[in-house]
Amino acid sequence: MPLLINLRHVEDDGLELKGKLPASELELDGIDELIKAEKPLHYDLEVQKLEKSVLAQGDLSLTLRCECVRCLKPFDYQLELEDWACLLSLEGDDQVPITNDCIDLTPAIREDILLGFPQHPLCKPDCGGLAKKVIGKKKKTGDAGQEEIPSAWNELNKLKF
Ligand SMILES: [Zn+2]
Repeated sequence: MPLLINLRHVEDDGLELKGKLPASELELDGIDELIKAEKPLHYDLEVQKLEKSVLAQGDLSLTLRCECVRCLKPFDYQLELEDWACLLSLEGDDQVPITNDCIDLTPAIREDILLGFPQHPLCKPDCGGLAKKVIGKKKKTGDAGQEEIPSAWNELNKLKF
């Protein structure tokens, strides 16, 4: 089940939403080969109906299974979105689909969870990596750049003589 908000239930004085959303609903697999979501997302949200929109705000938390980019060791990464807020429009061009009085909060959550993904997952900030192999990187010096200067001097020399 995706995370649906029944607009009828929000009408009066807001609605509290608390629970777990299966990671499969967020469709996070295959986004990043180093990051997997296996455990459910925990949400603790307050939903309010405004004039032409619905405001959801609260905390989201998801444990991600990551693989360290340096040593390839798997580790858990706690993704916390505190004071998360999302405004879902009920009118106009950016109106969210309403099905049986319900709107789906899942796409908005998914979007922000993706933004919260670690860019370069590290098991610890100073991870030393697998093996301390120094790979000699020979820098190729730009031939064109090196030749240009001497030739310029040559031209100057020619002028002098
Ligand atoms: Zn590591």
